[in-house]
Amino acid sequence: MTKIINGKEISAYLKNKIKDEVAALKQNNINVGLAVIMVGNNPASKVYVANKEKACEQLGIISYKYELPEDTTNEQLLELIQKLNSDNNVNGILCQLPLPNHLDEKLIINSINPEKDVDAFHPQNVGKIMIGDYDYLPCTPAGVIEMLNYENIDITSKNCVVIGRSNIVGKPMAMLLLHNNGTVTICHSKTKNLKEICRSADILVAAIGKPRFVTADMVKPGAVVIDVGINRCEDGKLCGDVDFENVQNVASAITPVPGGVGPMTIALLMKNTVTAAKKMNFNK
Ligand code: NDP
Repeated sequence: MTKIINGKEISAYLKNKIKDEVAALKQNNINVGLAVIMVGNNPASKVYVANKEKACEQLGIISYKYELPEDTTNEQLLELIQKLNSDNNVNGILCQLPLPNHLDEKLIINSINPEKDVDAFHPQNVGKIMIGDYDYLPCTPAGVIEMLNYENIDITSKNCVVIGRSNIVGKPMAMLLLHNNGTVTICHSKTKNLKEICRSADILVAAIGKPRFVTADMVKPGAVVIDVGINRCEDGKLCGDVDFENVQNVASAITPVPGGVGPMTIALLMKNTVTAAKKMNFNK
């Protein structure tokens, strides 16, 4: 019987624990605050930002929302980030990506104080992830690891294949699987024999951005399949990078879309924000 890994259930479990931590900090007169910046009107970003705000509200985290117009300049955005960097009420700063094309994404990410970089995108935090000495885990890959742990799926000595090498998902995902003693292969658009490599995976993670790209013939019977993809399909509905209907008959465990990795990402963002608040108040 294939296990459908329920991201909603696991994220609710995590969020409950985080809520208790936020309440305990409040007892010590410490409020946890997250600043969320959004530039322009990207509809997907609006949904993500609204979900993050909702999660903050549920957990007792104060959210400070900054909705800036599409024509915001680099200078204006940098000025806001500098202000938030030195605001003691703000523990975490998140700048929703993608930014409009005229903005310099690298410059903006690098301007966020690494201590408040709850997305873990700043080069300093990325470097710390590389050497396994991290304060903040990248939210989506860390969410995947939490799911595997929750389901008692051991990563040690497993062949792990990650399809995708983005800085946000693929690369940090591979690194976290490696830190958990997996034997890791990273695939991308130039990989040859993709199907054969995928079929060698005990744990297969798809982070491609192409609807139903991973088909049943690419999956080893009994493999664990994690679908990070969030795509809009022909029928207008959300779907992942994995052909769920058919792959579920081959895999031993699989995440659905929606209701899989997506809710985990937000829970891990909340966790990082609480970590930031603790660091700011106790690690001076
Ligand atoms: P990117 O577009 O940045 O990266 C996609 C990766 O897939 C690239 O490395 C690319 O290779 C690879 N790829 C593309 N086509 C192929 C192919 N034919 N064969 C093998 N590899 C291929 O996307 P992201 O990493 O940012 O996101 C991936 C997906 O995850 C998206 O659907 C996104 O919406 C979703 N996502 C979900 C989140 C969640 O919370 N669940 C959070 C973040 C993202 P190359 O480098 O060679 O171009």
